[in-house]
Amino acid sequence: MAGNHHWVDRVVETDVLVVGGGAAGTMAAVAAAQEGCRVAMVVKGSLGRSGNTIMAMATFRADGESAAECGEKKADPKYTKDVLFENIIKDGFYLSDQNLVRQYVADAGKRISQFLGWLRQKKQRVIFMPPGVWLTSGKAVGMACRYGVRQESNVDVHGDILIHELLEKDGRIVGALGVKIYTGELIAFKARSVVLSSGGFEPYSFKCSHSDMTGDGPAMAFRAGAELADMEFLLQMPGALLRPLVHRGSILPFVLNVGRLISPGIMNTAGEDIRKKIPPDLRDMAQGSEWMKLIYSYYWAMEISAGKATADHGLYFDFSASSRLRQSPGAIKAFILLKLLYRNRWQFQGKDIRDLFRTAKEGGRWEVGLSNQYAFGGIVVDNHMSSNLPGLYAAGEAASGVFGANRVASALTEAIVQGHRAGRSAAAYAAHSSDAQIDNNQLAAAAENILRFFRNTNGRSAAGVRSAMEKAADTGFGLIRDDSGLNLSLEKVISLRQMDLPEVSLRNQARAYNLEWFQALQTENLLTCVEIGMRSALLRKESRGFHVRTDFPRVDNENWAQRIYCRKQGGEITLSKHAPSTDHLAVPMDRWNDVMAYAAFRQKEMADRSKGKERP
Ligand SMILES: Cc1cc2nc3c(=O)[nH]c(=O)nc-3n(C[C@H](O)[C@H](O)[C@H](O)COP(=O)(O)OP(=O)(O)OC[C@H]3O[C@@H](n4cnc5c(N)ncnc54)[C@H](O)[C@@H]3O)c2cc1C
Repeated sequence: MAGNHHWVDRVVETDVLVVGGGAAGTMAAVAAAQEGCRVAMVVKGSLGRSGNTIMAMATFRADGESAAECGEKKADPKYTKDVLFENIIKDGFYLSDQNLVRQYVADAGKRISQFLGWLRQKKQRVIFMPPGVWLTSGKAVGMACRYGVRQESNVDVHGDILIHELLEKDGRIVGALGVKIYTGELIAFKARSVVLSSGGFEPYSFKCSHSDMTGDGPAMAFRAGAELADMEFLLQMPGALLRPLVHRGSILPFVLNVGRLISPGIMNTAGEDIRKKIPPDLRDMAQGSEWMKLIYSYYWAMEISAGKATADHGLYFDFSASSRLRQSPGAIKAFILLKLLYRNRWQFQGKDIRDLFRTAKEGGRWEVGLSNQYAFGGIVVDNHMSSNLPGLYAAGEAASGVFGANRVASALTEAIVQGHRAGRSAAAYAAHSSDAQIDNNQLAAAAENILRFFRNTNGRSAAGVRSAMEKAADTGFGLIRDDSGLNLSLEKVISLRQMDLPEVSLRNQARAYNLEWFQALQTENLLTCVEIGMRSALLRKESRGFHVRTDFPRVDNENWAQRIYCRKQGGEITLSKHAPSTDHLAVPMDRWNDVMAYAAFRQKEMADRSKGKERP
């Protein structure tokens, strides 16, 4: 027991607590340390070896002007900061917080430069592609994170600790309570300020993301009284491998397709090529651009709804018309890229991919599915990355607000820009605030909440609850939704949270390395995020970006150019509509027949701009 805090095994004191060891956490820890603070960085996995940062392809995107400032000779300065700013907002269906987008655009060059410096120190390969895209690998990004943090002697890294509850005193966040995974010890972190950079949430059964994505940060912030927003929007990636099982979740098909390195047929189970169902202007718009995710996912999900997908909701990348694949210019380019990034043309993200190319070369097919790559929703932050709770900051995928309802820019850039800002703001807050005091009653309640599963006997398994939740999300909370499907899934999720989760019991009573226990804690967080997401999706009676309602197909700016916020009041989830900050670009009060009609409108707008024919 630690001092007079009888409920915990250890108390660690620091100035700034950073939760998460991905790109956002790294930048936050480094920035706070450079402001002279002592920093404790706590990671569920280990620094630079956990979270979605290491799953990334990995592209950092900025505008050409910033890329030129970074010294890239091939940068296209005509793709200015203003153009990128406008694209993020308009392509995000006008739901972005425009001040956060301004920051993204203003800071991207400086932060990418800083990160590239670490990548180069670690001798990692980075390929620049005009107008303003840098490509490396997730593994390299992880190495750079470790390198960056190690340069700062003020940062203590605490790995293998799952933070589950924020600690609050007199309305201010003063630390957090977590569990050391290998020993089961309860460790309290007492801090003057806290940055949550713990990533997003991923609710479905088929995954291309890291298993860390259980929404811990947003869920614990919500329990502590923070506002969340945009939880109904989850970005889908069309083309992650379902089979062969050894490659399940690999995004290689999507990467090759979006990069125009392969061009397979995309066949449904009725033998139809879904590319032919996509209008040519949208097909052109999708090629080589981030719009591919929304456009292809939309038509893909329509096939699922029409019962023309495989049992796993998959389609086929079909190579029967491309038997000379191996010699094709695209495939050769792909091999060169793989060789540059992974030093082996048959490697992709640590896997040998020879069998996949063999199948393709023989004119076979890959079964591929939609999988969730990014959560738009998270903690509401202001320009300083501050939440509505004093002392609590958020950055990266744990936060919300930059990309609205559709992301065409880079989540990694978002993570490093926001991480840096959050670290600096948290340091400034720590410097001007009084010493943090922990409330013993609250600590006891937090400890009790974390340990409660040990008191149950003969209940359900946490894995069973999680898999039932994933099924509910698969069924009613996919890209295409409607009132009855959402209601059925929400009912199920509420019953899992209210009836099943409290009954979850652990077959093993040991606290050390009890994976069932951690599964239970993380399932609690996921259930919170998913329930809020479903409730928000039900409230939003229109379609927008990655939220497509068959019963309300129109994109309706007049009534719904609004973010849905959520907070806990009187123990209940309450939702409210908020106009996003629109200080720079006015929202047109228009309507479009559906999400693809808006995409076509954007396609035309961008085509006109590139022809120099600005719309009035
Ligand atoms: C397959 C895939 C490919 C992608 N490719 C790209 C790309 O090419 N370009 C791009 O811009 N974006 C890409 N993204 C998205 C991008 O990788 C993420 O949005 C970004 O890395 C998020 O960074 P982050 O630091 O906010 O969170 P993460 O990288 O997810 O890090 C979260 C950290 O928090 C820790 N953590 C979580 N919960 C807790 C807890 N309770 N206690 C303690 N620690 C905790 C985790 O262990 C981890 O260290 C991709 C995503 C996926 C899934």
